[in-house]
Amino acid sequence: MPKLHKVLIANRGEIALRILRACHSLGIKTVAVHSTVDRNLKHVGLADESICIGPGPSADSYLNIPRIIAAAEITDADAIHPGYGFLSEHAQFAEQVEESGFIFIGPEAGVIHQMGDKVEAIKAMEAIGVPCVPGSGGPLGNDIEENLRIAYTIGYPVIIKAAGGGGGRGMRVVRAPDQLEQAVATTRQEADVAFGNRMVYMEKFLENPRHVEIQVLADGQGHAIHLAERDCSMQRRHQKVLEEAPAPGITPQQRAQIGKICVDACLRIGYRGAGTFEFLFEDGHFYFIEMNTRIQVEHPVTEFITGVDLVREQLLIASGEKLSLRQEDITIQGHAIECRINAEDPHNFLPCPGAVNRFEAPGGPGVRVDTHLYDGYRIPPNYDSMIAKLIVYGHDRASAVARMRLALTETVIEGAKCNVALQQRIINDSGFQRGGQNIHYLEKRLVTAQEHQTGHNRKSPK
Ligand code: ADP
Repeated sequence: MPKLHKVLIANRGEIALRILRACHSLGIKTVAVHSTVDRNLKHVGLADESICIGPGPSADSYLNIPRIIAAAEITDADAIHPGYGFLSEHAQFAEQVEESGFIFIGPEAGVIHQMGDKVEAIKAMEAIGVPCVPGSGGPLGNDIEENLRIAYTIGYPVIIKAAGGGGGRGMRVVRAPDQLEQAVATTRQEADVAFGNRMVYMEKFLENPRHVEIQVLADGQGHAIHLAERDCSMQRRHQKVLEEAPAPGITPQQRAQIGKICVDACLRIGYRGAGTFEFLFEDGHFYFIEMNTRIQVEHPVTEFITGVDLVREQLLIASGEKLSLRQEDITIQGHAIECRINAEDPHNFLPCPGAVNRFEAPGGPGVRVDTHLYDGYRIPPNYDSMIAKLIVYGHDRASAVARMRLALTETVIEGAKCNVALQQRIINDSGFQRGGQNIHYLEKRLVTAQEHQTGHNRKSPK
């Protein structure tokens, strides 16, 4: 029997529902915390208890640490699951949760802190033999001559990145020395405003990499495993749009080799819980970029190909159980694809909150829909625009693609604008169907399509 009796879910939307289901299937009670605009969220109605923790803006509710901890105290919860986003990678939150006598479902605060500072994370990974992108190896100062020297050694183009960055923000590519000073200053300023951290660093900008990441589970008691990789190269503005597992073309040898490196790294840093090592993959080589110390949006594709319920494993690890899975228990079978469905304008990609008058989810064999949507649900303007995840499984990539094509056709979302058409374009794109495209592919295709629509690629008549 698990040690956990009651878990407070410090999140909202589809992931809150996902966590609730995992808890209930283990016989663990749940507490939903929600803002005033989220009273009608699906998981709030399904939870054993619910508490309103403040108004719509995240800063006053889902990011308000004292209120979340007070809610755990009032409801006598044992543990807090942070989901993804919000406070999931906030070291001080993890620390305060534990100091208040609750279990934080995730790694220790010290590890979150170390991995949350990308400069520190890269230093730690380099020290234990994880291959990293060639870079400054530390934060950049304000001495332009020194920065020029670093860039020269790395070789242009380089990318300036915020040490505290996330969500694809706080990055700037520099192609020539005369752009460097300005780029460092602007990124620093943006990082200060967005993340409250002025620290920036430099990496080689890889021109044609794929984003390939490794899922890990560790119990913090000397056992760790990897659950193969995901390919998240379909991106817009450095943000993932569609993910799949396994990554096309990765050989079992490559998988085993990089997987072992990640497992060793988990053991060396004393990792506990579910986590992801993110790499860029170019010309057969992996280059570490960051570690996410939480469950990720795209975790279901891994669940499909391995048969492991990752959120359940998180709960068992938090209960103090030893990992029951061994590396040899993990076999991968078939292929899975996830499409993120966002409430956004299909032309300018701006979020489009509002009422969903009608919602019909796709179904059939190998189709999973993770969503909090229902007929009449109002998407509030305060949060992330992702409203659903369509995940499909097939015995091979082609059948997964075919199932996703069908699933997208069956999806009905009326009232709110969303990106189903964009996902259909990706699924029907011959380059995507070949597999193995790089992180710039989608944006290039979008630009080509837009030019085509507006006629910019044709010669204007004289
Ligand atoms: P975030 O934490 O904001 O997600 P990451 O460091 O994980 O930032 O990078 C997000 C994305 O930005 C990557 O998936 C990739 O598309 C791009 N990127 C980051 N670093 C580099 C690099 N050195 N070269 C090329 N692209 C990069």
